[in-house]
Amino acid sequence: MKPLEFRDTEIRGRKHPTIDQVQIINNQTNFPISWLNTQGYCEYSLYLENFQHIKVKANKAMLRGTKVHNKLEENFKKDAVVKPLDEIISTSKTQEVLSREFFVMSESYGIRGYIDEIWLTPDSIVIIDDKPGSRAYYSMIHQVYAYCLAYKDSIGDDRKIEGALRTRGTDNIFWRHEFDEKAGNEIIDLIEHVQNLIAGEDDFIPTTNPNKCRACRFNNACPNAQ
Ligand code: SF4
Repeated sequence: MKPLEFRDTEIRGRKHPTIDQVQIINNQTNFPISWLNTQGYCEYSLYLENFQHIKVKANKAMLRGTKVHNKLEENFKKDAVVKPLDEIISTSKTQEVLSREFFVMSESYGIRGYIDEIWLTPDSIVIIDDKPGSRAYYSMIHQVYAYCLAYKDSIGDDRKIEGALRTRGTDNIFWRHEFDEKAGNEIIDLIEHVQNLIAGEDDFIPTTNPNKCRACRFNNACPNAQ
C-alpha cells in the first residue's frame, strides 16, 4: 500500500469555558472520540477528569501503549509522503493507500479524533484502532464506529466503510465489521447521550463493577469507587 500522510490539526473553534477537551465549533460542542471508549468503561471517570478537573498520572498500561504507538508512527513517517486530503482520497480510488494518525471531525455530530490507521482502497475504507489485548469490548467498538461516522460525515465517501480493532504493535485484527445503518444508528444515539452529559441533561452513571474500579486511575479520588 502507498503510505500517504495527511496533516490537519487545526481545530476551528474555541475551548469550552468549563469542560476540558471540549471545543465549541459553529455553536456545537465537540468532544474527542476517545471519550466513547472511556464512557463504555465508566462515564463517571469522564466527569472526574474533564468536568471536575481531577488530575491523576497515566498508568503503566497507558504509558506502554503510548510508547508502542509512537514507534509505529515514527516508522510510518520514514516512508510516508505528506499529501493534502483531497489528493489522498482521489489517489485511493485507483490504488491502495495506507495512512496513520488520520484526523477526522464531524461538526454536525460534534466529534473529532485521530484514526490510528486507515486503509483506503478502490473498493472500501478500513478504519483501524489499535488496542491492548485481543478482546473486542463494546467501548472499543463504539470508538471505532465513531471514527467511521466522522469519516463518512466529513468526507462523504460512498465506498463501503469497515471498522476494525487490532492488537497494538501486531498485525492481529481481532474484530472487523461493516459500518452499516444499524452501527450508524447505535453510535449516533450514544453520541447524543454524551452531548447530553456535556449539556447537563443526562447524569453521569458510575460503574457498579468493582473490578473496573480496582483498575481505575481515579480510584482514590472517586466517591463512587467500589
Ligand atoms: S473508581 Fe469506579 S466509579 Fe469511580 S470513576 Fe473509576 S471506575 Fe468509575
